[in-house]
Amino acid sequence: MSDKPQWAELFTEVVTSGLCTGCAACVIACPKDVLEYDRRGTVPFHIADDGGLDNCTHGERGCTLCTRACPRFRNWESEADHLRHGRDREITEVAGIGDVYLTRATSADELATGQDGGFVSAILNFLLERGDIDAALVGGLDEVEPWRTAPAVIRTRDEVEATAGSRYTYSPNLLAYPAAAESGAEKMAVVGMGCMVSAPAVMAARKTGKTARRLGLTIGLLCSKTFDEEIFDGLFLAAYGIRREEIVKMNIKGVFQLWLADGRYVEVPLKEAHAFTRSGCKNCPDFAAEHADISAGGIGAFSDWTLTIVRTELGRTIFNDALAAGVIEVRPGSDDPGAIALMNKLSTVSRKRWPEWAQGGPRRIPVTSA
Ligand SMILES: Cc1cc2nc3c(=O)[nH]c(=O)nc-3n(C[C@H](O)[C@H](O)[C@H](O)COP(=O)(O)OP(=O)(O)OC[C@H]3O[C@@H](n4cnc5c(N)ncnc54)[C@H](O)[C@@H]3O)c2cc1C
Ligand code: SF4
Ligand code: SF4
Repeated sequence: MSDKPQWAELFTEVVTSGLCTGCAACVIACPKDVLEYDRRGTVPFHIADDGGLDNCTHGERGCTLCTRACPRFRNWESEADHLRHGRDREITEVAGIGDVYLTRATSADELATGQDGGFVSAILNFLLERGDIDAALVGGLDEVEPWRTAPAVIRTRDEVEATAGSRYTYSPNLLAYPAAAESGAEKMAVVGMGCMVSAPAVMAARKTGKTARRLGLTIGLLCSKTFDEEIFDGLFLAAYGIRREEIVKMNIKGVFQLWLADGRYVEVPLKEAHAFTRSGCKNCPDFAAEHADISAGGIGAFSDWTLTIVRTELGRTIFNDALAAGVIEVRPGSDDPGAIALMNKLSTVSRKRWPEWAQGGPRRIPVTSA
């Protein structure tokens, strides 16, 4: 095996082994543009005339950037933990390291369009308007097909509002990076699930240079799984007669909750949705977006508040500044102990998904408690 691991190693150890989440970090890190992305399968692939599907001629000459960007390659979790916190996590830190709060936006608009407390929207608006970031990479909506998620670069309050809320199909938000960089953005925030927000940490730990530097702030979304696009026709339409363009909001709170344009509210049991689980999620060990600067989720007793985990020094500074500026309000996490217990339980469940045979994930630190 090469001591300079390249696409050939990434292909066998991550892409075809079942560890690949489809985060697209390898695609945006590749300086030779020989990696592309299959939006339907949510997987990267190597273009055939430059080494074939399973090898890369640039890799043979020493290029290792794709493996250095991948947040599932070899010792990724420990490297990201050390970069963010200077240490491996303790056994009890199943949901990663950080302090838990309940938060919500003080703006009525952000609260109305946000999925939970509109915290993520409030922070993005705050950072864009203060000039801390030039752009954010988020999950937007396809212009042609409603509810088809699509990576988006946003810069304005209107764009934050248009992309707020949660979709439960996969949006590889990092794929918006090239457009943001081409338009001159140097300071970017990434919003995304754990699979995406671990990438900038791993990239920085493995010194990928300017891509890592530009992806300066990460806002993670708690996540157990995403679903294939087929869920719209195969379940919602086939079993409930609901067309995707009728759905105005979705949430998952023990059941799939659907709000429809005509005012109806429909619940779909989660067990009916399991068959549509996206394959990239099946081995994912990270529920709580553990390497984000700040993570955000919707579990808990208070549906219009965001469960928020402040993880890093940068996250703490932004959180405090946003609070001082009055754009968010905050309650202690201890106001909802059930939410913290559920986060730890769901994190424990996810961490058990990392296969025994794989290197680098949570098995290195045995998980013993919820
Ligand atoms: C696929 C998915 C699964 C989730 N699962 C859970 C869960 O199991 N438990 C839990 O507690 N929380 C979960 N969340 C997080 C929750 O739904 C909210 O995103 C979170 O609470 C923040 O709410 P908010 O009102 O502060 O965010 P908002 O202000 O509404 O901002 C949400 C941000 O998420 C981005 N986004 C929306 N959909 C996607 C997508 N598909 N891919 C990438 N980015 C997207 C938007 O562009 C926006 O920037 C999940 C989110 C997603 C997207
Ligand atoms: S997990 Fe992400 S970086 Fe790793 S191979 Fe898959 S798409 Fe590429
Ligand atoms: S479960 Fe969520 S965090 Fe994990 S790979 Fe799937 S989308 Fe990413």
